[in-house]
Formats: sequence, C-alpha cells, structure tokens
Amino acid sequence: MSGANKNLPIVSAETLDPEDWHDVRRQGHRMLDDMFDFLEHLRERPVWQPIPPTARDAFQQPLPQTAHSLESVHATFIRDILPYAIGNAHPGFMGWVHGGGTPVGMLADMLSAGLNANLGGRDQIPVEVERQVTRWMSELFGFPESASGLFVTGTSMANLIAVWVARTAALGTEVRAAGVAAGGKQLTAYASAGAHSCIAQAMDLAGFGREALRVVPMNDRFQLDIAKLESVIAEDRQRGFTPFFIAATAGSVDAGAIDDLAALAEIAAREALWFHIDGAYGALAMLAPEIAPRLKGIERADSIAFDFHKWGQVPYDAGFILIKDSAMHYATFASPAAYLQRVASGMAAGSPWPCDFGPDLSRGFRALKAWFTIQVYGAEKLGAIIAKTCGLAQYLRQRIEAEPVLELLAPVSLNIVCFGYRGADTDTLNAAIAVAVQNSGIAAPSTTTIHGRLAIRAAIVNHRTQIRDIDNLFEAVVRFGRLLNQQRNEHER
Ligand SMILES: *Cc1c(COP(=O)(O)O)cnc(C)c1O
Repeated sequence: MSGANKNLPIVSAETLDPEDWHDVRRQGHRMLDDMFDFLEHLRERPVWQPIPPTARDAFQQPLPQTAHSLESVHATFIRDILPYAIGNAHPGFMGWVHGGGTPVGMLADMLSAGLNANLGGRDQIPVEVERQVTRWMSELFGFPESASGLFVTGTSMANLIAVWVARTAALGTEVRAAGVAAGGKQLTAYASAGAHSCIAQAMDLAGFGREALRVVPMNDRFQLDIAKLESVIAEDRQRGFTPFFIAATAGSVDAGAIDDLAALAEIAAREALWFHIDGAYGALAMLAPEIAPRLKGIERADSIAFDFHKWGQVPYDAGFILIKDSAMHYATFASPAAYLQRVASGMAAGSPWPCDFGPDLSRGFRALKAWFTIQVYGAEKLGAIIAKTCGLAQYLRQRIEAEPVLELLAPVSLNIVCFGYRGADTDTLNAAIAVAVQNSGIAAPSTTTIHGRLAIRAAIVNHRTQIRDIDNLFEAVVRFGRLLNQQRNEHER
C-alpha cells in the first residue's frame, strides 16, 4: 500500500471559501447594510454625475495576481462604482426605458447567486419556479396553460427567439439544417416605423437580412398604419415574396404608442402570418386594470416578448419570451446531444428542459427575482405602480401645456412624454437642455426624434418617481431652457 501511495499526486486542500466564516459574515452584513442605506437615501444623491478621471483609472489596472481583502475591494466599489452608475434606481431617472429595481429583487438575486443554480435543465425545483412564472404570464396574457416561456437577457433576445420560432413555423424544421435560402422562398416581415431597432436586428441575425423587414408608416397616433400594412403585404405577395411575420409594438420607445393589436391579429390570421408582440415594457400594463383594455388582442398573439426589468421593476436582467405553440418552440431549439440525454428518473429527468427553448445551455436563476417580486408585492400592487407612472406622465403633460415656453411634441399615450422648448430651430437647444439637466443631477431625461424634431423625452418607469420628481424635472427644464435660450439669442445678436 505505502509503495503505491508514494506515486499518488499531492493535491492541495485549498478552496475559495473563507477560512473564517465569521469574518465574511460580518463583512457581508456590512455590504448588505450599505445597499439598504443606498436605497433608503437615494433621493439625497444626484441622479447621475460626471465621472472623475480617478474613478476611471481604478479600472485600468493590471491583472491582480495576489489576494485583496473583501473589505478593500468593497471599499473600491463604494468609492468608484456605486456613485457613477447611470442612476436608474433614482426617482429622478426618466431616460430611455429603465426600471428602478427593488430591495426585494436585490435580496432574491443574492439568494440565487448563493444557490448558484444552472437552469439549463435537469430535475430541480428552480426550473419549476421558471415554469410557475411562465404559467402566471400565460394567465395574465390569456394564453393556454400549455404555452412555453423562457427568461432571457432582455426583449432584444426575446424578439430574436420569436423570429427564430416563426422561421420554423414558416419553413419547417428543415431550415435548421439547410438554412433559410434552401427552399428558395424570400420571407418578409412587417413592423411599424416606431418599432424598436432590435426587430430589424433580429431579422439580420436570423439570416433574412434587415431589408426583409418592411417598415410600415405610422398613423397620427404613432401606431402602425393598418391600411398601409395591408397594401405592403399585398404588394409583396404580388412580387413573389412570402410574408411570414408581423411584429406589433405594445408601448413604443419614442411615444409609448400601442399598435391596434386586435386589428393586427385579424390581418395575421387572414394572411396566415406569425403574430408577434414586442411588449418590452408595455405588455405588463396588463397588470393595471385601467390600462389592460387598451391591449385587447394581445391574447391572440403567437408570441409576446417583454421585460420584467422595466415596468416589472425586477433588477436587471430579466427579459422573457412567451410562445403559444410550445411544440413549435421546442422544434426550433431542441437538439440531441449525448451528454444531455434525458432519462425518466434521477437528475437527468424533467424533460423538456429550458435549454430546449432557447440558444443558451447554461442559464442563471433569473426566475427567482421575478417570482419573489410578484409574490411579495402581488400583481395588484405592481399594476397600481404601472398606472401611477402613467398618471405622472399626464401630470407632466398638463404642466407642459400650461407653460408658454414649452410645447408637447407627441401625444401622451402611456408613460412617455416628448416635449421641447417652443420655437423654430430648437433641436440644438433641446439637446443642450437635456444634457444640462442630466449634468445637474436633478433629473435625467433623454432625447429622441419626433417628426424630424429633437425632443426632450421623459419615460416614467421607476416606481419611486413621485409628483415632486416631475416638478423637479419640469422646473429644471424651464430654468435651463430660459438660460440657454438667452445665451443663444445673445450669441446671435
Ligand atoms: C427596451 C425595449 C426593447 C429592448 O429590450 P432590452 O431588454 O433592452 O433588450 C425592445 N423593444 C421595446 C419597445 C423596448 O422598449
């Protein structure tokens, strides 16, 4: 025995766990408290602040070869990272479409990181949590219980998955081996000019090319123009193209418009097209009884892409794709691999697995933070928050309408307000106002282009935003607007 042992390798007993759990526990509690302090006192901080060079320098270091204490690395986080994030947790943040996150979501994310579950598949309750959220979403959107769903990074990925599944529906599973060109068909898709750019990107990534997406003009309410859609489809058919996909938008990024989902469902059914809805932030308005009727027709979709990390207030990232025909969904992604073989019992049971419904094999436990959020707050409260942000948008609209120096640049449909300084050639001025307000740390609007004009844009998504935050934004815009406009006039004189 001892002779054989001599040849066995000597292996160290090192792990990455702490030698003293007491120390890490104490430091961990301090870190948790720091984040509670941060969230409790958000309002006292600037929304955003310009980043000093010292903070950037902290991330230009060589690869560390030796250990640093958790305490010292956390001190760097507090000093150089935390103050210089984009600020979407702050009630004054109204740029782009960003959710605010919650303490509950933060804690759930900590639990899922501790558990370190890999949700690619296998027989485990974390996968059941994801299936539970899928059934809740099916219930919310009026989908059958058999619908399939998957957490993904965001709606960009969810839209791409929808295009891939629709591609299988149009061309059969052969497309997976032979590619999109093999059948000789030229597939075309349809979305409004107000659709998010990731729809065109999805067409690109799925192998159809951006030009296969027909961009249909909008009506005066920023919705996809139904009559124009019908004529574009007819024209495409006449020219030998094969229409296969309509992407409706429920909550457009520029103006918060909701396409006429019921009318689009009708056309999709008549033309035998896949009916997809990009409801990135807007779909969850189904939680708000006063807004839900405006999403009528959503139940007729073949697929819905949306984000829990926007109006759902779940911490980033938490996108979701819901597909009515789970068999088609499965047929798009499932692939036989020897080491992923399924069995009836043991750990490799529980088929189909989440990895059969998307391109990812290893996947985190995003479902947990969504499940916690929905459980702890309840659907009613989450819906009330969504309705509240729309109410704040109407409040801002009224203040703008009552202020002679400002004008509204698009109708306020949901929670997005596009406005600007009144007058001719205000593009540069409006851009400068937005930057001045951002730099002030008082509030954080962004900008967009509406009918060729640069607009200041406030998207009210954060559950923490209140009337006083809207007042702060409004007053800052008026103040910087007057100042910058005066400077402009003096310069011109
Ligand atoms: C935010 C958004 C997207 C993109 O979603 P991500 O989660 O950022 O990938 C797509 N469409 C609309 C309408 C959006 O608002």
